[in-house]
Amino acid sequence: MNPAAGHDIYADLHLHTLFSDGTFTPEELAARGKDFGFAAMSLTDHDSVEGCERMDIACRSLGIKFIPGVELTAEFEDKEVHLLGYYIDLHNKKLLAEIKKFQTVRQDRIREMTNRLNQLNIPLRSETVFAIANCCAPGRPHVARALIQEGLCSSMDEAFNRYLKKGRPAWVPKRKISALDAIALIHQAGGFAIVAHPALNQGDEIIAPLAAQGVDGIECFHTKHTAKISRHYLNMADHFNLLVTGGSDCHGFSKGKPLIGTVKLPGIYLQKLRAAHLNRKNLSPTATPAAS
Ligand code: AMP
Ligand code: ZN
Ligand code: FE
Ligand code: FE
Repeated sequence: MNPAAGHDIYADLHLHTLFSDGTFTPEELAARGKDFGFAAMSLTDHDSVEGCERMDIACRSLGIKFIPGVELTAEFEDKEVHLLGYYIDLHNKKLLAEIKKFQTVRQDRIREMTNRLNQLNIPLRSETVFAIANCCAPGRPHVARALIQEGLCSSMDEAFNRYLKKGRPAWVPKRKISALDAIALIHQAGGFAIVAHPALNQGDEIIAPLAAQGVDGIECFHTKHTAKISRHYLNMADHFNLLVTGGSDCHGFSKGKPLIGTVKLPGIYLQKLRAAHLNRKNLSPTATPAAS
């Protein structure tokens, strides 16, 4: 990456594929990223790194830098917080073991959700959901798609509003780990831990304690953040000396129109993240332009 050209370099560091609840393959996502001219992309599937290798190959072939990533569900003081892990080692045993636990609970949760639907006389089989999900980290959007496919609901919104959202009869909680454990897990895998879409969390008061506990950054740019909200979190990141990231949180066609291209992380923040990574690896960004 040429630092002098940083002003017109952009990245999307928050993306999902069909290895979690997105609808694009890694190759389709990389191709769309190329169309938007992204210099770098990350794949941040929920509780899964399954798609990262393919995404890496696809990005490489298109001249896009790939940053391995993941989005973990955590909690801090009873509040759900999503933590993004960047530059994680995809072969880290502890990380993979923990991800496996998340996935097992997600699979059990699908069976529990279909059981609850069956009790309401909604004849949805867990096998139908697993066939649609076809991945290790199935979630509620797959249940919603199955309900639509079987003619039991007419839209994703209907499925969530009637059955799947919190407080509705088929809602089942996910596995969560404490935010501090998630940060430690990401760190021991060589990654950076970033608070995802803070405006979607229940309050900013978690940022200071998380920063004190070693969180590395804030996702300031996100589809659900207005320009004003992004500025607010940029100020917070500055105040706590945190890295800044951003991305579209594109799920393909899962939530209507694909969001990729709607959020562009300016190159300056990409460079800082990359420099922090190289610094951690004790490398100089200029000395090793080919390093990941
Ligand atoms: P899960 O991880 O299984 O709890 O599912 C969470 C996913 O469901 C997230 O990607 C949400 O954005 C998505 N979701 C929540 N509500 C809706 C909705 N009304 N339509 C489509 N997706 C939704
Ligand atoms: Zn999702
Ligand atoms: Fe999230
Ligand atoms: Fe996400």
